[in-house]
Amino acid sequence: MRSRIFTKLLLVSLLVIAAATAVMDVAITRAWKRSLHQEIETALSQKVRLLATRVESDPSPQLQQIARQAAADAQARVTVIDRNGNVLADSEADPATMDNHASRPEFAAALAGRQGMAVRTSATVGVDFLYIAVPLRHGAVRLAHPLSAIQQATARVRRTLLWSSGLALVVALLLSAIAAQSLAKRLRRIEEFAVRVAGGDLSARIAERSSDEIGKLGSALDTTANRLQQSFQEIQTARQQLETVLNSMQEGVIAVSADRRVRWANGLMGRLTPGGVKLGAPLVETIRDPDFLYAIEEALTTGVARTARATSILAGRSYYITATPMPGSGAVAVLHDVTEIERVEKTRRDFIANVSHELRTPLTSIQGYAETLLDSTRNGTEREFLEIIRKNATRMSRLTEDLLTLARVESGEASFSLQPVTPADLLHDAEQNFREICKTRGLELLVEAESTRPVSADRDAIHQVLANLLDNAVKYGASGGKIIVGARDAGNAVEFYVRDFGAGIASEHLSRLFERFYRVDKARSVESGGTGLGLAIAKHIVRAHGGSVRAESTLGRGATFVFTLPLAT
Ligand code: ADP
Repeated sequence: MRSRIFTKLLLVSLLVIAAATAVMDVAITRAWKRSLHQEIETALSQKVRLLATRVESDPSPQLQQIARQAAADAQARVTVIDRNGNVLADSEADPATMDNHASRPEFAAALAGRQGMAVRTSATVGVDFLYIAVPLRHGAVRLAHPLSAIQQATARVRRTLLWSSGLALVVALLLSAIAAQSLAKRLRRIEEFAVRVAGGDLSARIAERSSDEIGKLGSALDTTANRLQQSFQEIQTARQQLETVLNSMQEGVIAVSADRRVRWANGLMGRLTPGGVKLGAPLVETIRDPDFLYAIEEALTTGVARTARATSILAGRSYYITATPMPGSGAVAVLHDVTEIERVEKTRRDFIANVSHELRTPLTSIQGYAETLLDSTRNGTEREFLEIIRKNATRMSRLTEDLLTLARVESGEASFSLQPVTPADLLHDAEQNFREICKTRGLELLVEAESTRPVSADRDAIHQVLANLLDNAVKYGASGGKIIVGARDAGNAVEFYVRDFGAGIASEHLSRLFERFYRVDKARSVESGGTGLGLAIAKHIVRAHGGSVRAESTLGRGATFVFTLPLAT
């Protein structure tokens, strides 16, 4: 680069100086010639006028002699003619031998009474002459001056001019070379800076102190590099902080690119995978768990966060996975070890199941003895006490039954035998069970079997769900006088509903109704024999079928409990 710029600058300087010299040469030569010509012309006109006066005033007939003398004085050729153009005297030739001069332009003008002037090559001597003629009383007189003097003087001036131009050219070239050298050096510094920055060295600076355009460019580039370095440092610090946070997490974190390769993983992730994390390699080479891989795949293809439970990442340990798509591309997965939580949960469930199981026999026994005693007792107070004992024993036994059912459904131990069942069959089972109860309570039970598409369900389990919902409708919605149970199509599922027209439920309770032991009105629930577990059991059974539950209600207008079941394939 250096040599090219240097050479270019030198060439430009050379061209500029050469052009300036040529222009000066032409202009000065022309001006010089013109001024010299003017000078000779003025001097010659004065001399010819003087001569004319002398010729007019000198009566001597020695015209030829006067011409010779005047020619010597004026250093010019003198010619005198009569009014017909015949040469009367000439300082250089014999007048007798000379032809008629009346037609010479300068003489023609003088004979017409004006001063005449002409430049031409003399036929007699063969060089360029300046002729000036003025009129006489009986003719005209002319002075002729050779112009070769102008050419010689011009040649001298041009020689001097060329010499000084040559000298100026050398000096200018030297100065240009120095300027080009310094410019090339400064540009080289900018080039070196650019190469260093491109190579990732953001500490490179040009440090230009001059205030010209290159100096301004240099300081602008330095400012840019400063900003870049600052931003880069900030990004690096933020990245390091993020890495420290992620490494200190109790969860495993792994990021994958859109082409399913491992981009980054935190320290814990390395300990979770027996072979270690293989950065840049396909994800499957680091973790082979199918549930984990499926969650990542789903997050990458759908762009929506996915969760999963993975049990074969490390033997004997369970992980709760959250796979989230990353802005731009790729996804990040967080692995939360839930082994301990699940163990505690299982212990709790087992404990409840065991306690419920152990309580079953003594409660049945208490119930039996209370009933036997009731049959044989007439005493009013005793009967009242026995009735209380029987009622509470029955409630406790219902509670233990519900707790056992819930524990089984929650743990996933209860195995459902899923079969295609038509909604009408399921609704019919429920109707049969509740027809009598409704009748005794003065309630109308309506069935709306709109959907005819079979669903995949365990008939007994769904019967329990419908029974729990209908039981609640009878208990809490009796004031409405009517209960509707039905099924309708809802996309890939069938939606079942139980609707009553009782007091309804305030909206703030709706989202919590399906929690265990959640009751809107505890006293009423206990009074009507409720355990607070009916809806929780229903929720778990429906979820185990792959469906969902919800409650809708407007206070004072009744409540509708809805659950979905997937279609039988
Ligand atoms: P419970 O054994 O108390 O009935 P559930 O789990 O079946 O327990 O119901 C939880 C609570 O939801 C009930 O205590 C009751 O307050 C409310 N609830 C359930 N169904 C209805 C309904 N159809 N109308 C009004 N409230 C209801």
